[in-house]
Amino acid sequence: MAKKASGGRLFGGIDVGGTKILAMVADEDGNVLSTAKKKTKGEQGFKAVCERAAVTMLEAAEVEGLALEDLTAIGIGVPTPVLPDGTTAFAPNLPGWKNAPLIKNMETFTTRHCYGVNDGNAGVYGEYVFGAGKGSKTLVGLFVGTGIGGGMCFHGELIVGENSMAAEMGHIIVQEGGRKCGCGHKGCLEAYASKTGMARRIAWEIIQEGRASLLSEMVPNGSYATIKSSALLEAYRSEDGVAVDALRELAHYLGVGVAAYITLLGPDMIVIGGGVFESLGKELMPIVKESARQRTWPEASYKDTKITLAQLGDHAVGLGAAAHAMHRFDQEVMNG
Ligand SMILES: [Zn+2]
Repeated sequence: MAKKASGGRLFGGIDVGGTKILAMVADEDGNVLSTAKKKTKGEQGFKAVCERAAVTMLEAAEVEGLALEDLTAIGIGVPTPVLPDGTTAFAPNLPGWKNAPLIKNMETFTTRHCYGVNDGNAGVYGEYVFGAGKGSKTLVGLFVGTGIGGGMCFHGELIVGENSMAAEMGHIIVQEGGRKCGCGHKGCLEAYASKTGMARRIAWEIIQEGRASLLSEMVPNGSYATIKSSALLEAYRSEDGVAVDALRELAHYLGVGVAAYITLLGPDMIVIGGGVFESLGKELMPIVKESARQRTWPEASYKDTKITLAQLGDHAVGLGAAAHAMHRFDQEVMNG
């Protein structure tokens, strides 16, 4: 029990994803004391997922010999905006999650104060409080995976807008009339600078244009969106033309988005994470930065923005949810 020696408060953080639930116990300094993991099994419906999330949280606590009562509060990161009344807005990948009573269920199942937050927002908040963004005042974060998650922090708070649904960073339009996005619009940043967007280009090059590529052996079933970042790295390092072109395009467009965020918000830092950048950050960051530099106005605001890689990896959402719970608990309960 040496890790508890500080005697400070402990918080729970839960990351509910489309395929897995990751729960963790964290202290006030962002140290992860223990974790537990389960499959989401979203097809079993909303209430069953909430119950599994609570059980996963309990298992993480038990690893440290704790009970849920030892946690001051629990934060839960979910793939949907969470409204002020604790209900979910919408979660396209989870059936039954539209206008669902997230916090009511979680508080029933855990008997603790619970706070909900969008998973992309949680990841950025985690980096802001405990990771690469520590010390920055205005932070923009982008996580490149199947989609683009992210968010914005300003002087200690997440910016979620008056509708609690803002900061959908991947859905700004970077190419009018361009590639179709999963959201139904055309030309979103996510349609170019995510793995899904990149997969569209790779499939076009290999299947329609007949370009030879290592990727066709690595992904024999042609579903390039599921390609592992480690395989992309291998193809990139082997100077596979299709992989190099597709990844450079992804980085180029991410830079287009970064320029828009800098011009709009004037952040002192931008953190970029997610599987693609965990594997290929060194190779892709210079392309992102040059693309952003060319499009930021005024140019001085580019120089004032530190663009750096995220640090928390798979723990970002859970730690961010825990940090968010700590922040909200102190605002609402401690201060009345
Ligand atoms: Zn979109």
